[in-house]
Amino acid sequence: MPVYEFKCEDCGKEFEKFVISASKVSEVKCPYCGSQNVKKKISACGISGSSSSSSSTGATCSPFG
Ligand SMILES: [Zn+2]
Repeated sequence: MPVYEFKCEDCGKEFEKFVISASKVSEVKCPYCGSQNVKKKISACGISGSSSSSSSTGATCSPFG
């Protein structure tokens, strides 16, 4: 499901957003303060499966905490 959870780094609010493609993630803005300084909350780092996505995704697997 292309619904991702985001957390705003500016106001700390968390929200869900429907994102069609990964490239649209960078266009997501915080609905509370309008900041684009949001982080996508996804637990895809631990998933080891068949990823047919192309390169240049720039996935960062930094652990939260
Ligand atoms: Zn915000």
